[in-house]
Amino acid sequence: MAKVILKPSREKALLRRHPWIFSGAIAEVEGNPGVGETVDVVDSGGEFLARAAYSPASQIGARVWSFDSDEIVDETFFRERLQAAINRRQWTVNSKQWTVDNGQCMASDNCQPPTANRLLPTANCPLPGCRLVHAESDCLPGLVVDRYADTLVVQVLSAGAERWKETIADLLLELTDARRIYERSDVDVRTLEGLPLRVGILRGEAGPDPLRIQIVEHGLRFRVDVSRGHKTGFYLDQRINRARVRTLAAGRRVLDCFSYTGGFALNALAGGAASVAAVDSSAEALTLAEENRALDDLPGEKIEWLEGDVFQVLRAFRDQRRDFDMIILDPPKFAPTSSQAQKAARGYKDINLLAFKLLRPGGILTTFSCSGGVSAEFFQQIVAGAALDAGVDAQIIEHLGQSPDHPVALNFPEGAYLKGLVIRKV
Ligand code: SAH
Repeated sequence: MAKVILKPSREKALLRRHPWIFSGAIAEVEGNPGVGETVDVVDSGGEFLARAAYSPASQIGARVWSFDSDEIVDETFFRERLQAAINRRQWTVNSKQWTVDNGQCMASDNCQPPTANRLLPTANCPLPGCRLVHAESDCLPGLVVDRYADTLVVQVLSAGAERWKETIADLLLELTDARRIYERSDVDVRTLEGLPLRVGILRGEAGPDPLRIQIVEHGLRFRVDVSRGHKTGFYLDQRINRARVRTLAAGRRVLDCFSYTGGFALNALAGGAASVAAVDSSAEALTLAEENRALDDLPGEKIEWLEGDVFQVLRAFRDQRRDFDMIILDPPKFAPTSSQAQKAARGYKDINLLAFKLLRPGGILTTFSCSGGVSAEFFQQIVAGAALDAGVDAQIIEHLGQSPDHPVALNFPEGAYLKGLVIRKV
């Protein structure tokens, strides 16, 4: 097997079981490994550290498959890793049968929307949306697999995962009852790995174009555009937070900024909001949002879909002295890495400052950042600065994070990217 030899004293991260080997830590590569090929990583004295996938084009020169020198990276390895990740998502809280009745996902008795501390259904829910494999945090670097009912959507983000893609696709069909696998490897990080972008069917019937799959989440139906939607089609990471917003929305006039296909807006409606205004710059997303509203027959007269730039819409509302009892801010990633953190901070501060101004006293701001380059502490500081500049007093009443099917391995803190605050204006 080819070998990657580290520079002296560059083994510390691997000894802490961090799965990335930066190219700057590599002294020498022996055996001329191909892109994505499995290599042994050894310290400068030749001691085994890890078995990894080699990625010569990337700043992350190798990603660890295993820290165990006895473990062979082959089909059996992937079968075990995939099965383990899938098993961790089984809903074990209650064994009742779940059925879809009139759009509501219901247990035969005691129907409750899933709450934050439950992992999301796979076996017991007929139309689940759930992340099955969360890359590094599920010990499968560079591989994301999301399940939307009978369709799996994979993102292959690293040279190593790419090399094993066909094996992984076959195994996913074997290990799940999925009918098709769709690939959404149209993500910038692939370019950093020297891989081409690719979108299309990987296994099973291609189906109609665009490919839209219906799921049920917290009893609400959503259509997910897996071929053209953002990421793999839906922001599954926000699932528990959508449920949280639903519980807070009763009687409130809600503003949902960066609404996409209406995830928060429709949960606010389902939770009894007095009215909802939902803003997004994508007309296509808002069209799907309205279709999603109609699927569950939620009251159309209470919701206003606004196509526009949130930065401008918030200013317009401020000038019109329009106010709200609850505002949700779920912007796209402003800072993928820490080098863009300062610029991102200005964006976050701007929208949070305006939101504080539009909230009436007692109102609730639910504000998120999914930027890996902005830490939870920094995000809280930015929001505090926004409140200060807006001249308002406010309290954090809850910290939010990504849903439990997006776990964060303790040896991989980079996995914790989504942070949210529930804030009350006093
Ligand atoms: N809250 C959503 C996910 C939001 S993703 C959910 O739970 O499903 C971010 C959204 O912001 C995308 O739909 C994108 O179209 C939109 N967007 C990006 N920049 C924007 C801007 N400046 N103004 C309005 N919408 C924007």
